[in-house]
Amino acid sequence: MSFRITYSVLEADLSTLHAQFDEALRAVREMLGARLPSWIAGEAYESGALLESRNPARPDELLASFHRTPVSELDRVVRVAREAQRAWGATPWEERVRILRRAAELISERRMELAARMTLEVGKSRLESLGDVEESADLLRYYARQLEEAEGFRRPMARLSPNEDTLSVLRPYGVFAVLSPFNFPLALAAGMSAGALLGGNAVILKPSEETPWCAEGLYHALADAGLPPGVFQVVHGEGESLGAALVRHPGVDGVSFTGSQAVGMDIHRQLSTGRVRPCLLELGGKNAAIICRDADLEAAIEGCFRSAFGLSGQKCSALSRIYVHESLLNDFTDGLALKALDARVGDPSLASVFTGPVINAAAVQRFERAVDEARRDGAVIAGGERLRLEGGLARGHFVAPTVAALSHGHRLMREELFLPFVGVTRFRTLDEALRLANDCDYGLTAGIFSRNAEDVERFMSEAEAGVLYANRRTGATTGAWPGVQSFCGWKASGASGKGGCGPYYVSQFMREQAQTRM
Ligand code: GLU
Repeated sequence: MSFRITYSVLEADLSTLHAQFDEALRAVREMLGARLPSWIAGEAYESGALLESRNPARPDELLASFHRTPVSELDRVVRVAREAQRAWGATPWEERVRILRRAAELISERRMELAARMTLEVGKSRLESLGDVEESADLLRYYARQLEEAEGFRRPMARLSPNEDTLSVLRPYGVFAVLSPFNFPLALAAGMSAGALLGGNAVILKPSEETPWCAEGLYHALADAGLPPGVFQVVHGEGESLGAALVRHPGVDGVSFTGSQAVGMDIHRQLSTGRVRPCLLELGGKNAAIICRDADLEAAIEGCFRSAFGLSGQKCSALSRIYVHESLLNDFTDGLALKALDARVGDPSLASVFTGPVINAAAVQRFERAVDEARRDGAVIAGGERLRLEGGLARGHFVAPTVAALSHGHRLMREELFLPFVGVTRFRTLDEALRLANDCDYGLTAGIFSRNAEDVERFMSEAEAGVLYANRRTGATTGAWPGVQSFCGWKASGASGKGGCGPYYVSQFMREQAQTRM
């Protein structure tokens, strides 16, 4: 049996897709303003103070309010998780696979509604939202398949004597806290949670405070698929308070986190005190592309444009540094600048829009600071301004896709910005380009555009990043898919060494036990 990648979003007829999306958007808009719970022990928790979810394209639009989980409730949440985990961990793995596969089906069936919510809550374009939803379902299927292929991770070992049988068995740790970010609000929450759940752990999900509404959709898919109460709970609140308290809780056996490097390292320190607990971290990126002298210029411009500005640069895989061979510097930069100026930025719920707003006002301020610095120390070639759109979008968090000329050592070429902002600089030899691309704390993704097979091979063997792409016009450094590209951060970009979307993912949520029977 081979694993089939769905890709149904990409295969479907676009006009049908848009008609279905319009319909889902209408339905979702009718639900706006609801008061929604945290989910504890399979029950709605409806007494905390409220966390508001707003549309970043129209901050006046309240999507839903969520009851926060007070830190004082965490003891109960963890106790419930520990109790529920005992039965879940003892459930035959085939049954865990069945439930997670059913959840994948439900996510696919509900994909239009989930994608419409996501477009409103995160400001993702329609196709990016649909891709995120389909990726979520594919992650569940792909991780379920890992358990099947490994036959539940029970493996006969060598015999020391004829009357002795030994098994190596992977067993759950217990309770995992999953802390998920806003930018892939379903795929990352679903993928990290599914890894832990399939491994027999209970999960306490603390989604980004920007995206509680998407997490609500995941909760219902898992609950409706038959996951027993308490095995998956969703708590709402800020990372600094609720997330931090959850990580510190002694009843939590492990943490899976995707987000910034600074927060990730804090979590790592917390989990290394007392007893060492597993800590899966997918952190930031400062991803580089190298445009060689013999590159297909048009493909390079297209690939860099999509990678730097898709989802307004808010992907940890986004392209943020471009090294261009000096002979192509002007043509490449002009081409990229023209595309950036042409890009349609606006209401992401419209079919024609390429990218929507950034997530919040703080991101706009970070953008304005970066642009000031680029003007002072380099040059802004395209973009550089906050966009003031009209009507209901007037207060939206819109900024222009920005291309800047910057020297390699500049702060803006080293620190992750998580914005539609890309720096360009020149190189003379491939040696120099590789040295500059690798001269960076991060090591998540990287790309090259070259027609020379030897140069591509050098890049593949020397680039210091976990995910490498050559000549990818659909996204120079972005777009990893479950079962295709393992999404694995090197250097400051990660701490597990084995990425989401990849073949070793689920086993990281389990610990090994040797069982010898005479
Ligand atoms: N999987 C996404 C990609 O390859 C990025 C995920 C992230 O930003 O965390 O583009």
